[in-house]
Amino acid sequence: MLHTPHACQFCGRYVLEVEGWAESLKPGHKVLVPWDDDPSVFHGFYHWSCVRASEFGPKFRTELLNWVCQKDQLITVRGEDGLLHDTVRTGLGYTRHLATVGGGDIYESPRFDRWVFAETAGPVHFLDIDQARVLSEGKPLRGNNGGRHAFLPEDPGDVVAGWGLAEVLDFLQVRDVYQDMIDRFAPEYSFWRGSPKGSSYILVYSLSAMRPVPSDIAEFFQNYLQRYTLKIPEPVRTNGDQ
Ligand SMILES: [Zn+2]
Repeated sequence: MLHTPHACQFCGRYVLEVEGWAESLKPGHKVLVPWDDDPSVFHGFYHWSCVRASEFGPKFRTELLNWVCQKDQLITVRGEDGLLHDTVRTGLGYTRHLATVGGGDIYESPRFDRWVFAETAGPVHFLDIDQARVLSEGKPLRGNNGGRHAFLPEDPGDVVAGWGLAEVLDFLQVRDVYQDMIDRFAPEYSFWRGSPKGSSYILVYSLSAMRPVPSDIAEFFQNYLQRYTLKIPEPVRTNGDQ
């Protein structure tokens, strides 16, 4: 496992986080590393394209779904003391398999109006009811742009404030990893602020792009939501109800 800040656990190159393209997993989720028979916890960053291309992608998917699609489970992991420990993994509980479509599987939460689409090649897309509706209307779904922090490996100087996304990615030497997103998925990047920290630099920024959800998933929800009953009623709207 690589411990360099922002290193992709699959390729070792820099990960600038963007929902649906490059993300991270916290150790608290207790997803197990896919390349090791010894049970240790995966944490850190990964490019979705690296998961899809990796020989460990299918195993990573299995480990992700062990967390996402199950209830709480007792698992055994090797701790930092080198010993094996029993621990409870809190599952997300997307236990209903709804369909195999669009190069993956759709699972539903029995408690909430939420779904996941798990690509056969690995990455997992989370969808709430509003997002599923956007897809069902045939519209693209923009990822969360959040306010994110990134540790840049070197201080780029004040010039970073005027950079666009391509320049940031060039500086990090990973533009090729994001080229498909840049070309076809309308990324929106903003520099918020930044400050040097030792020999590195803390960049605070927002970045979103259209999420790469296959069109088959949109078609699925177009049909499915027509006969779907909300598990959690929406607030009663009174506007105009005079
Ligand atoms: Zn990578």
